[in-house]
Amino acid sequence: MSARTLKPAAERAPALVARLHASHPDAHCALLHRNAFELLIATILSAQCTDVRVNLVTPALFARFPSPKDFADAKPGEIESAIRSTGFYNSKARSIRGACRVIVEKHGGEVPRTMEALLELPGVARKTANVVLGTGFGIASGFVVDTHVHRLARRLGLTRESAPEKIELDLQRLFPRDEWVFLGHALIFHGRRVCIARAPACDRCALADLCPSKGLPADAWKRGPKPRSSKRSPTRAAARGASARLSRGRTAGPRGRAGSRGGSRGSGSSRSRRA
Ligand code: SF4
Repeated sequence: MSARTLKPAAERAPALVARLHASHPDAHCALLHRNAFELLIATILSAQCTDVRVNLVTPALFARFPSPKDFADAKPGEIESAIRSTGFYNSKARSIRGACRVIVEKHGGEVPRTMEALLELPGVARKTANVVLGTGFGIASGFVVDTHVHRLARRLGLTRESAPEKIELDLQRLFPRDEWVFLGHALIFHGRRVCIARAPACDRCALADLCPSKGLPADAWKRGPKPRSSKRSPTRAAARGASARLSRGRTAGPRGRAGSRGGSRGSGSSRSRRA
């Protein structure tokens, strides 16, 4: 069975936004937090761990370490033992301690509000930075591309890319900036509730008539179109330039450009496996 032919993604995008608003009006970040600092720590902990597990750990963790300074001053082993059940606890503790030290020493104890500054924190890559900026501060700097958003963007034919930063760039081109934060949450909700990794429920999916993958095997998207040709064209060259800027962590610009950006699992938490 092959993918259905539908209108181009740009023509389907407005209807997808409307359907996701109607289907998941309650879409929100599943990580429990009271401020951007707690969200940053919870997001670091969510790498390779479910949001449910993280939410079991963080209330006691934040009671014991209520501020960045408390984490920065923690004795060796203290953070590790408090977060052990989230897995990869040594590298996560290293990231948390390192990030909090930078926050205390360089930002006066406040979580920074720019992509550039967030990316300087140990253990923080674009996904975590976008979570903190979008959900913690209400700043739409880009798209959170986690495992669900990655899968849905491919199944829905919104991207042909595999690298998160390139998927993010395609999504930014397709959707208006003021929808980026909501759509990140809504796609994650849809991925957990309907377009499930191992068994997409196409028969009860509100996006079915807009989806080229309706009825296809669950893993068909992995065998989908290969990444775009490297053949140069002005548009592709511009996209590569924007992608490179994204990789360097600059803040995303207006729609279509990149300027000077639970149950869910992340991608790791150490410096070499930033999330
Ligand atoms: S139609 Fe099927 S593959 Fe497409 S978004 Fe819905 S559940 Fe996923």
